Amino acid sequence: MGVRVRFAPSPTGFFHIGGARTALFNWLYARHVGGKFILRIEDTDRERHVEEATDVILSGMRWLGMEWDEGPEVGGNYGPYFQSQRNKIYEEYLEILRKGDKIYERDGAIYFRVSGEPQLIDDLIRGPVHRMEEKDFVIFRSNGTPVFHFVNVVDDAAMEISHVIRGEDHLSNSSKHVELFKAFGMPVPKFAHIPLILKTNGSGKMSKRDIGALVEDYRGKQFLPEALRNYLCLLGWSPKDDREIMPIEEVIRLFDLRDINKNNARFDDKKLAHMNAAYVKSMPLEQFLERGRNLLPDSKLAGEYGDQVLAICQEKLRSFEELNHFVSYFFNEDFEYDREVWSDLRKRDPVLRIGEFLAKIENMEGFSEEKLEEIVVKLAETYGVKTGDYIHGVRFALSGRTVGPSFYRMMLVMGRERVLKRLKRALVEIEKWK
Ligand code: GLU
Repeated sequence: MGVRVRFAPSPTGFFHIGGARTALFNWLYARHVGGKFILRIEDTDRERHVEEATDVILSGMRWLGMEWDEGPEVGGNYGPYFQSQRNKIYEEYLEILRKGDKIYERDGAIYFRVSGEPQLIDDLIRGPVHRMEEKDFVIFRSNGTPVFHFVNVVDDAAMEISHVIRGEDHLSNSSKHVELFKAFGMPVPKFAHIPLILKTNGSGKMSKRDIGALVEDYRGKQFLPEALRNYLCLLGWSPKDDREIMPIEEVIRLFDLRDINKNNARFDDKKLAHMNAAYVKSMPLEQFLERGRNLLPDSKLAGEYGDQVLAICQEKLRSFEELNHFVSYFFNEDFEYDREVWSDLRKRDPVLRIGEFLAKIENMEGFSEEKLEEIVVKLAETYGVKTGDYIHGVRFALSGRTVGPSFYRMMLVMGRERVLKRLKRALVEIEKWK
């Protein structure tokens, strides 16, 4: 039988990165072995808002590029894929247990009679784990609703799941689950319990309240889904050669459950931000422009000038969330000057430097990166100062800041008229601060 794995989230209204990582490892494994990846919504405990809550998961999964082969909106031969719609199947399976004398009723609840024998969980990550269930446990509550252990196992059995890949917090449930599989007379799937994700400071498990814990927040912050996905691959798995930035096809080729780390993974938001920045820088220009255009301060600004601005900013941009701010002064002649950086600049005699540079631009012939650089180098020589003194002062005059894209290219994109106008405006403004 082929490999069939599943991601079985409960719709809580959030898509936690821990869940996304579990989904990803299932998806990677299915793609690696050419098996099926199934999405099943475990919504027995939740009556309200299931639809919106499910949508958070579905759209998060699609955003991360984890398409499922069977499940909501896709269908498949083992449906329905919502537990809330599978009551008939649960009744049938309950009947199997009843016939085998494996259940009894007490106080209105239905109990499962445990075997009294130790169970082996042959975990692909942790190795063999032996556990014994001492006590009979409830599978239907007195209000008639089925319990997680029961529906989870029925569905894995009925959907012919071959590998249960899930968070380590479920390891302690597994002996109950093995008992149930056996009682149904169904094959026990292979298990792979993935280590937890700890908070950045190592103090316990990441929860949805921790900053950076939700997939939808990264989406809102304009993260590149490929970057987040690449980062999640490394939370508990790594290729043998310690590469980090890898195309997903390469991860699929190399991924194996055996190589998942036994130790807990630690969430590192700096590393994730770094990875996002690396993906932003290496985007093909056309893709970068397409995304960037929609994020410009005003969509009317998209055009040839807008594209030129975007193109020179790509190498310095760390995330698309910053884009609007990063490029704003290009499109606004009344941009503000950052008075804080100005006070650091003053020891470089910026007013003098701006004035000297302005005089050269007024008289220069042609307007190219080489010519502009030549002017700066000559000025620095003539006045016995550093080229940096011109670069910082003039950049401030042109943008109100001391950081931005490559200095000469920035001027080239702004064009001579705009550069002249801004240098003059800066001198007038600075005069007022004295
Ligand atoms: N609904 C369970 C959860 O979200 C699924 C556990 C499992 O994968 O078996 O934790």
